[in-house]
Amino acid sequence: MRIECPICGSRDRREFYYRGDAIALARPAPEAGDDLWDGYLHLRDNPAGQTRDLWQHESGCGAWLVVTRNTVTHVVQAVELASDVKRAMA
Ligand SMILES: [Zn+2]
Repeated sequence: MRIECPICGSRDRREFYYRGDAIALARPAPEAGDDLWDGYLHLRDNPAGQTRDLWQHESGCGAWLVVTRNTVTHVVQAVELASDVKRAMA
C-alpha cells in the first residue's frame, strides 16, 4: 500500500506510523474505573470497509495525516494533513 503524503508525495506505507482511528478516543478521567480504562486501552473496532485513520510520516517529514482508506481493498481514497482537518472542524 502506498500513501500520498501531501508534503513528500507517494511513499510506501512502511514509512508511516499507524496511530489508529482518526476520531479521537475520549480519554477517561483518571478515576473513571477499570472497565472504562480497559476499553480505552485495549478495545478497538476492526471495520471492513472505509475508515479514517491517523498516520504519521515517521520516516519522512513527520507530518500527521488523516488517511481515508478501504480496509478490504487497501485503496487509499484521500490523505489530508491532520492540521487542516482540525482547522476545518474548528
Ligand atoms: Zn511526508
